[in-house]
Amino acid sequence: MSYADYDLNPLLLALDLASLGEGALSAGELLKRQRRMFTDHGYEPDHDVAASLTRLGGELAAVLRRDAEDEFIDALSALLDAQDCRPHLTRHDGVASPHLHYAKDGAPLIEWMSSMAVTGLVLYVCRNGRSRLHPCAADGCGRWFADTSRNRSRRYCSGTCASRTTVAAYRARLSPPAAPR
Ligand SMILES: [Zn+2]
Ligand SMILES: [Zn+2]
Repeated sequence: MSYADYDLNPLLLALDLASLGEGALSAGELLKRQRRMFTDHGYEPDHDVAASLTRLGGELAAVLRRDAEDEFIDALSALLDAQDCRPHLTRHDGVASPHLHYAKDGAPLIEWMSSMAVTGLVLYVCRNGRSRLHPCAADGCGRWFADTSRNRSRRYCSGTCASRTTVAAYRARLSPPAAPR
């Protein structure tokens, strides 16, 4: 993983958790998508943690759903306060580039994960604001993603969602409206 990954990964974790909290991502999918994040840090999560992850995801989603900017920042700040953050600098015993950890090494998985995800979101918002954080616009998706395109034009979480939507729109144009009976 590069430095940029270490910088961005906590945000992506927060967004996956928010998607889980809103039912747009299953616990199994989240564990698969974030596998590297866990194994690189000595965690082997199983489905026993699903309920705790979903609760944490619900809290993150509730913050992201705040419309008013002031309320969003206040809610984010309150969520950060609720974490037991212990920032420290690590290189994973010399095998990785230096980066911040947000909980003590070996902390219980949920504690480690929530401090990482919440801090990741806070750091991102302080640098970039939240205008690039959206739920996917594709029907039946709704996963949270960060639009990193230069012109801020992405509406879908993935190429799959974008092409699925394009195909559906194309079919809708082709099929004539149902005749009145
Ligand atoms: Zn690390
Ligand atoms: Zn999507």
